[in-house]
Amino acid sequence: MKFLYVEESLLDHPRTQEIKEKLSPTLIPIKRYGEVFNRHGGHFRLQKRENALILAEKKGKLVYEIPPSYGIGAKHNYYFSHLLNCPYDCRYCYLQGMYRSAYYVLFLNYEDFMGAIDEKIGNEKTTFFSGYDGDSLALESYSNFLDYFLPFFEKRPTAELELRTKSGNIQKLLKRPPVPNVVIAYTLSPDPIAKAFETNAPSLKQRIKALLKLQEKGWEIGLRFDPLIHVENYQKYYAPFFKEILDLFPRPHSITLGSFRLPLSTFKEMKRVRPKEKLLAVCTQKEEMMTLKKGEEMVEFCRSLLPKEVFVC
Ligand code: SF4
Repeated sequence: MKFLYVEESLLDHPRTQEIKEKLSPTLIPIKRYGEVFNRHGGHFRLQKRENALILAEKKGKLVYEIPPSYGIGAKHNYYFSHLLNCPYDCRYCYLQGMYRSAYYVLFLNYEDFMGAIDEKIGNEKTTFFSGYDGDSLALESYSNFLDYFLPFFEKRPTAELELRTKSGNIQKLLKRPPVPNVVIAYTLSPDPIAKAFETNAPSLKQRIKALLKLQEKGWEIGLRFDPLIHVENYQKYYAPFFKEILDLFPRPHSITLGSFRLPLSTFKEMKRVRPKEKLLAVCTQKEEMMTLKKGEEMVEFCRSLLPKEVFVC
């Protein structure tokens, strides 16, 4: 990464110093991250080619509620985003329709996130999702997120953390004892679909390898078949794929299933930056959401091949 933008108030922050030493970038001080992120005229596709990291402080609301239907079994569900964007370039990624900028934003005020999470934890089980606005592990070498948040959740047994990823960046997890209330959840797709749609992401084989190591070490693992991508004869790809995955991981912490869907506004922005994307051409509108034409049929088919306890998002 060539450029590191840093909010002036964070220039002397110890995490800024650590990142500076790793990257030796051209450092550009800024007042607030909005000056370079989501700036009018920014272009997601162009920035994806030449990326930059922005170090910022997240102000205002830090933890957001999610409906239980999007969860993995807990009554209370929240997400928080210490990081925006991701080094991979999945064709279906909704981030390209959410942000004008593909630059990574890392919010360094971890302690504020922890304070906000603590306010939400009660006696009932509560799940916190960290991978809504990026991949939870892909940029770990810069963020050191695990160093802070694993010990934090370890001390709060009624809370559960889901790390959602496609990354093979699991060295830190393998080096330490598992945390029972932390789920390492991998998004998985049949190999030909992963190759065609999940540009620059680790291959299915690499993700399986990472999952096997985590399973062997005793970590709780999650299987995320979300989004399901419709291709001609999808049954031919998904049926053997589920069999292979369930044979390898017979007792996952949780399985989720979800078809490709986007809010209409995100869809429109994605269409603007990716006008030739074929996946978007076969979407259909249902109220304020865009979904794949055969989405519901696919969910039903896939559900029939998976254990009963699967969560459909
Ligand atoms: S891994 Fe997730 S966050 Fe990253 S590009 Fe793919 S869909 Fe987007």
